[in-house]
Amino acid sequence: MGKPEPNVIVARSLDEARGALADHPDAMVLAGGTDLMVQINRGLRRLHRVVGVSRVPELRRWQVFEHRVAVGSGVTYTEMLTDPMLVEAAPALAQAARTVGSPPIRNAGTLGGNLATASPASDTLPVLAALDARIVVTGPGGERRLSLDEFVIGVKQTVLAPGELIVRAELDRPRGHQEFLKIGPRNAMVISIASVALVADHDARTVRCAMGAVAAGIPRARDAEAWVADRIDWDGGTAPDDALAAEFGRRVAAAASPIDDHRASAAYRHHAVGVLATRALERAFSPTTGGTRMNGNDNA
Ligand SMILES: Cc1cc2nc3c(=O)[nH]c(=O)nc-3n(C[C@H](O)[C@H](O)[C@H](O)COP(=O)(O)OP(=O)(O)OC[C@H]3O[C@@H](n4cnc5c(N)ncnc54)[C@H](O)[C@@H]3O)c2cc1C
Repeated sequence: MGKPEPNVIVARSLDEARGALADHPDAMVLAGGTDLMVQINRGLRRLHRVVGVSRVPELRRWQVFEHRVAVGSGVTYTEMLTDPMLVEAAPALAQAARTVGSPPIRNAGTLGGNLATASPASDTLPVLAALDARIVVTGPGGERRLSLDEFVIGVKQTVLAPGELIVRAELDRPRGHQEFLKIGPRNAMVISIASVALVADHDARTVRCAMGAVAAGIPRARDAEAWVADRIDWDGGTAPDDALAAEFGRRVAAAASPIDDHRASAAYRHHAVGVLATRALERAFSPTTGGTRMNGNDNA
């Protein structure tokens, strides 16, 4: 007698996925498998019962509204970076998606999987934080809408309860430039050593800046945001000078609390995140790449 086969349920609708998880709250949700299967192959998790959600149409779609974008949890990186409407509506998400893994990983990996993995180096998370995303989850207790701060409660820890499923993320769509920048040990196929997402909102006259891989969570640099928003020439459009951009970078880095690990030292991460923030601000308000342009997808 061999080992019993894992019990796999392939959901074809949101109701089916919800029903399967309500019946089997201990089941693992499987989307693209690019994180989960690595853990299984390494023996870190064991397959018992799986609910596959990659064929659930409600999770695979995105919708662009005037002031917000709803991105289903099953939307892949390839979709985030190739669909023109989505790229225009959420350019920083497209920039982050472009930096993830290799084409096969981008074809399979999803926003929901990145969220549930909740690594400080999960590349979409700083973008979601800077765009004040609401994470919509559903489960036996009904639907919940959470900020990223409420959703991610530690390194690789979320508030998802057994039987709960991430449905979508809803992002703001402000008028202004968005930027995502990342540093890794090499130029492609790397986990972040530090990352920054920056969003300029020309109507609210705010700058929002979140960081990845430099703290246990995904911190917003709120003091730096308020400091720089007071100094931007919102009416005249003059680009921030070098001193202002450098000081912004220093203030953003001050909100980081990086650690030493096998990828980089805390000191390097601290320096890197400041440099990224400086560059992101310069790009966001440069007359050629920034200004009030919605589509800031120039990070190739
Ligand atoms: C070679 C390689 C390179 C990578 N490079 C990067 C990178 O550059 N940047 C980066 O951020 N990540 C990277 N990753 C990690 C991974 O690709 C992403 O985190 C991806 O978004 C995971 O999505 P998935 O659909 O494959 O998730 P899965 O592996 O299917 O699932 C991951 C976790 O999320 C849960 N889950 C998935 N969907 C849902 C849902 N709808 N509701 C509730 N829980 C759910 C699963 O149960 C599981 O716990 C890389 C991975 C590999 C193997």
